Amino acid sequence: MRHLLLLLVLLILALTILTACKDPETGDELICPECGSEDVIPIAYGKPGAELAEAAERGEVFLGGCMISEDSPNWHCKACGAQWK
Ligand SMILES: [Zn+2]
Repeated sequence: MRHLLLLLVLLILALTILTACKDPETGDELICPECGSEDVIPIAYGKPGAELAEAAERGEVFLGGCMISEDSPNWHCKACGAQWK
């Protein structure tokens, strides 16, 4: 019984990892249009709170600053630095 529970937890974990890199709108995997890297993170705008600042430090999110416009990019490539919507 305990093994079954462990298996279930592992399955949920695997599913979470598999879906983590998907674009929620299209379901496509995020790939840099410049270099093809999958090392892509979302860009967060506004003044970051403690949680967001920590996420940025871990490289999970790119801080875009306080200014946001219609043309502001949503994604940042950690491999080449490209940014796009
Ligand atoms: Zn790139």
